[in-house]
Amino acid sequence: MSERYDVAVIGGGPAGLSAALNLVRARRRVLLIDSNRPRNSATLLSHGYLTRDGISPLELRKLGREEFLGYEGAEHRQTVATDVRAVDGGFEIACEFRGQESSALAEVVLVTTGLAETLPDIGQLRAFYGTHVHSCIECDGYGKRDEPLALIGEHPDLTERALLLSQWTDDLIVFTNGSDVVSSRDEAALAARGIRVDRRRVASIAGDRHGMQGVVLEDGTLVPRTGGFVRPEWSAALDYVASTGAALDPDGLLVVDGHGRTSVPGLYAAGESTAPGPQQLIVAAGDGARVAAVINRDLIGGLEHLADAVQ
Ligand SMILES: Cc1cc2nc3c(=O)[nH]c(=O)nc-3n(C[C@H](O)[C@H](O)[C@H](O)COP(=O)(O)OP(=O)(O)OC[C@H]3O[C@@H](n4cnc5c(N)ncnc54)[C@H](O)[C@@H]3O)c2cc1C
Repeated sequence: MSERYDVAVIGGGPAGLSAALNLVRARRRVLLIDSNRPRNSATLLSHGYLTRDGISPLELRKLGREEFLGYEGAEHRQTVATDVRAVDGGFEIACEFRGQESSALAEVVLVTTGLAETLPDIGQLRAFYGTHVHSCIECDGYGKRDEPLALIGEHPDLTERALLLSQWTDDLIVFTNGSDVVSSRDEAALAARGIRVDRRRVASIAGDRHGMQGVVLEDGTLVPRTGGFVRPEWSAALDYVASTGAALDPDGLLVVDGHGRTSVPGLYAAGESTAPGPQQLIVAAGDGARVAAVINRDLIGGLEHLADAVQ
């Protein structure tokens, strides 16, 4: 027999942890299902989270889990949700972890499993990712201030990202890795701000344990740079909710109303599972808290007119 909960929160990042904490404080019986693969695990330090600036991603999660588990009605399972389907009175969630299967029943499911990143296929990029090369400019721009930086990407928002990055350095080279995502008009606009565009293909990142030396191009040129930013492609792995028939947008993210409700009654989503692009830890946590308040009100029922209070 599966255990029965008021709410199953799938995903224990900041959105899920924050939602789980608020729901258990609303006296709900909550199961937090998490595969424990922090999206920001490539980095040693997280920045910009009020009172926790510079904390390690794992420590932030550990503190969040401890706070949640300190309450009656809180339960945490380290496992991977493989299927969510609607059943009488709620949802059945199937999970699997290292060959061990389990299941749970919940009246409501909150999806907070975030995004996955795919980096451009460049040698050694993964080795420098999170220490010398980052993706979140707001998070790591400050740590790279005034350095000679590279911005590598093949996405049409590269020019915008270069303009943003100019807030932190005036020595920036944009590498399009052979793509044509920067128009000649954009290139001229960047040049006017002292930002150079290099359209050659990138072979690898050069450096060692003492630091990054530069960007190596396919023609063998080494362009000296001490760090930089990369534009990954983002995707949401939401196959496990396919059985519910919940609507996805063209980017594969769950479609939600202004309150985190998906197209399936009782199925909610928060954090980066719904975001058109990456957020920040504190934004995801805030979204989790907001949707938790909606879920609690919906479970009580008859409180639709109060929903605006949690917009
Ligand atoms: C390298 C890097 C550095 C970053 N640095 C910062 C920073 O310094 N400051 C900042 O504010 N933001 C930073 N961010 C952004 C921040 O990590 C995200 O905004 C935030 O983690 C999004 O939170 P979330 O709860 O929506 O999703 P996530 O944090 O991605 O959490 C999703 C959780 O769901 C779990 N999961 C996924 N699928 C399943 C499944 N099927 N079953 C069970 N569990 C599942 C995962 O294991 C994970 O624990 C960084 C991001 C990256 C990639």
